[in-house]
Amino acid sequence: MTEGEDIAEIRRAVQALCAEFPGEYWRAKDRERAYPGEFVDALTKAGFLAALIPEEFGGSGLKLDAAAVIMEEIQSSGCNGASAHAQMYIMNTLLRYGSAEQKAQYLPGIADGSLRLQAFGVSEPTSGTDTLSLRTVAVRAGDHYVINGQKIWTSRAEHSDLMLLLARTTPREQAASKTEGLSIFLVDMRAALGNGLTIKPIRTMMNHSTTEVFFDDLRIPASALIGEEGKGFRYILSGMNAERILIAAECVGDAKWFIEKATAYAKDRSVFARPIGQNQGVQFPIARCYAQMRAAELMVHHAAQTYDQGGNPGAEANMAKLLASEASWAAADMCVQTFGGFGFAEEYDVERKFREARLYTVAPISTNLILSYLAEHVLGLPRSY
Ligand SMILES: Cc1cc2nc3c(=O)[nH]c(=O)nc-3n(C[C@H](O)[C@H](O)[C@H](O)COP(=O)(O)OP(=O)(O)OC[C@H]3O[C@@H](n4cnc5c(N)ncnc54)[C@H](O)[C@@H]3O)c2cc1C
Repeated sequence: MTEGEDIAEIRRAVQALCAEFPGEYWRAKDRERAYPGEFVDALTKAGFLAALIPEEFGGSGLKLDAAAVIMEEIQSSGCNGASAHAQMYIMNTLLRYGSAEQKAQYLPGIADGSLRLQAFGVSEPTSGTDTLSLRTVAVRAGDHYVINGQKIWTSRAEHSDLMLLLARTTPREQAASKTEGLSIFLVDMRAALGNGLTIKPIRTMMNHSTTEVFFDDLRIPASALIGEEGKGFRYILSGMNAERILIAAECVGDAKWFIEKATAYAKDRSVFARPIGQNQGVQFPIARCYAQMRAAELMVHHAAQTYDQGGNPGAEANMAKLLASEASWAAADMCVQTFGGFGFAEEYDVERKFREARLYTVAPISTNLILSYLAEHVLGLPRSY
């Protein structure tokens, strides 16, 4: 893949910013399970989180493929983009399906950093991956909707002003088809908190600021509805394709970080009076991870470019996510093995990145569900569920 100077410039700029946030910064945040607000502010100030916002609203009007490069560089620099990535992928839903009024109302604030759009409320405790079975309801009452229900794993909800919420507006049995009857809303959490919205943090194996969110007769203005009522599942699928592509780019960045760390360590660490990297038993796993990462990288850019051409590349986004998450997890495991005992010591950051990288074969969609999508929708095999 040859990249233009503009993309190379983005890579250099992200690397320079990330250099200000070294391992010590992330280790301290990880230890305290604290939100890396300084890092997110720096990304916002530099304009990276407004990459996809059109220039007329204060952003840089870049394509998803360029946004993918930003997320990849954050990860390959050893930082953790999970603190901010939702703004990129939620943005696409607002850009593709939001009204002119909604864009004018929110985009300038998101671009200048006065508004954070970091929360994505889809997953629920009872429905799991079966999104169409979600139970959170939004009932129209005059010029408002009243929301009741619960979300889980709503990451960054405590650090976001806005949440993109998926809720049922027509009972499943009354909907025209099984994919109709869900709607998406842009919820202003500043007004909602304490007025029907409660957020409860969940501690996880890595520092991810994830939460449970409870809706108890929360009233939101009808103008919070994005697009047409009942069509939310279609909109969310398009947003999920953007999310999968961006997360896949992060996985490629993680894989690059693990490969670089392992290579440097294998050259430097001497055992039996020679560098461990002289042994093919140490070299080959690193080389294999490199090849795996490069293949995933090609699929990520192919998927992003297809998305940028206006399509909804379900198969490509899913394959990018599958290949990249497996490449990053393989590289994480290889890196720990290359470091031996030191892979477990906090100060090398390998164990932290290892824990962080583990997420992506599960979320935002698990490997099995991607395989079943490919089997059914690409290969035409019988539907399994
Ligand atoms: C740290 C973290 C952050 C997250 N952030 C967000 C967020 O910001 N917003 C949000 O909406 N969600 C978020 N999620 C939720 C995430 O998208 C889900 O956890 C993920 O999609 C898997 O869903 P589940 O946990 O309900 O697993 P389940 O659906 O319960 O599945 C459990 C296991 O069973 C397998 N399985 C289920 N059905 C089948 C089948 N038919 N065939 C084969 N295998 C099957 C799955 O592959 C999986 O391995 C987050 C999750 C985590 C852990």
